[in-house]
Amino acid sequence: MNQFDASDGNCDHVQCAVCEKVITGGKWFARLKHGEWMLALCCPLCTEAFESKPDAYVRRIESLAYMQSCRGSALDLPLP
Ligand SMILES: [Zn+2]
Repeated sequence: MNQFDASDGNCDHVQCAVCEKVITGGKWFARLKHGEWMLALCCPLCTEAFESKPDAYVRRIESLAYMQSCRGSALDLPLP
């Protein structure tokens, strides 16, 4: 599961889509659906920032998620 994915309303650990602050216990300020993503925002300022340019933030999150999945699979590669 991605650390920005707030699609599970009971998830107790998710990061703010804007400032990457960790939000625990479902205490987000808002959740927003954007394309495939359900994202959590920690405060009104982050929500405003996200809504002003959602595509930029979603692109950043997608590249972070992609880098993480690459790193994960790289660890599984056998040593040369
Ligand atoms: Zn935030």
